[in-house]
Amino acid sequence: MTSSTLSSVQDARSRIDEINARVVELLAERQAVVDEICDVKAEADEDIRDPEREAELLDHVRSVAADAGLSPDLAETLFEEILDHSVQHQRRRREADAPSEANGSAGTEGVETSADAPDAWSRNGAPSPNGHGTPMPASRAEAATRPDGASADRSYYRVTREHRADDTIVHVDDVAIGDGSPILIAGPCSVESRDQILRSAEAVVEAGGHLLRGGCFKPRTSPYSFQGLGEAGLDLLAEAGRRFDVPVITEVLAPGDVAAVAARADVLQIGARNMQNFPLLKAVGAAERPVMLKRGMMASIDEWLSAAEYVVAHGSPNVFLCERGIQTFESTTRYTLDLSSVPVVQERTHLPVVVDPSHACGTRRWVPPLVRAAVAARADGVMVEAHPNPQEALSDGPQSLPLDALPRLGKLF
Ligand code: PEP
Ligand code: MN
Repeated sequence: MTSSTLSSVQDARSRIDEINARVVELLAERQAVVDEICDVKAEADEDIRDPEREAELLDHVRSVAADAGLSPDLAETLFEEILDHSVQHQRRRREADAPSEANGSAGTEGVETSADAPDAWSRNGAPSPNGHGTPMPASRAEAATRPDGASADRSYYRVTREHRADDTIVHVDDVAIGDGSPILIAGPCSVESRDQILRSAEAVVEAGGHLLRGGCFKPRTSPYSFQGLGEAGLDLLAEAGRRFDVPVITEVLAPGDVAAVAARADVLQIGARNMQNFPLLKAVGAAERPVMLKRGMMASIDEWLSAAEYVVAHGSPNVFLCERGIQTFESTTRYTLDLSSVPVVQERTHLPVVVDPSHACGTRRWVPPLVRAAVAARADGVMVEAHPNPQEALSDGPQSLPLDALPRLGKLF
């Protein structure tokens, strides 16, 4: 570029900056008017949305755009987005003004779990017969309370953007998941020994990883495969987390293990095979620990979000999701990484979503490009398996990265 072209580009750019500032100021002015309308409507107990008015407004901006020589489609798309924000903004204001009317107290999930609430959200909330014709014990029949705003014919509501427009940020010690900067979770598939988990923890922390993973209760396809070190593994994982000052995440397989796992782990992982293990979802919901819920390999996004609803409805608002690949006809990779679920889920739910490319592709050399793809898709984080000696790993060696691959990946976070 010659110096005169450069200066005219710079000049045009500064004019663009001024125009952008004016557009933003006008949006702020518009928002103030929206607030006025919101107050009047609340007083008159009127609905926030008015589809007729919205259609009229969009027609109007289309015709203004056409007169101004701008694409009417572009104007409509932009204003649809602006309208959407206005509606969410008004909903938040109403919730804040009327905490008892809306969804529990403002700014919290307002989770209730009382089984004897009058509107317990269950088609079979009343004691029902078990296989032997006797009434089911109350604790087994227990359903979460349906929040106001939900309807009986949809299976999830608390996790939706309709219920809460703002992103949920899950805090694990100093780590924030879902705040806009992606996190890295790394570590071995299974905790195998003190030396193995300590070496892994050191490498994860040095690479800038945020959470250390390590399975202790392993869901293996074959009953003859290594099943994990169980509680002894939990102790080793917790020791590694303390030694290297990094929070730890591990899978819990059974409701009876939740207390032991919650006592040593900072995040409870629900594995793909257990995504619809409802007693387990209820138990981790009640455990007062953040939960990472993996997508079942044969679960739709709706089923995944319904499973998340279980955890939230049973007490834990601190849930994040993990896409780990789904079963398709493709057999080259272990599963098919469904990266499209990331934007879909982010549109539908306020919960963060991370991506696990290791279990999805099953082959270590394909993991780094998929990590980059997940970050490009704006996932809230990535989980990868890494091992000091992948060739000797007791589980998932072929998809585990050597520890010296971590620093390069860490640079992306
Ligand atoms: C794991 O992360 O250790 C695991 C078993 O993954 P998934 O549940 O996704 O198969
Ligand atoms: Mn694994």
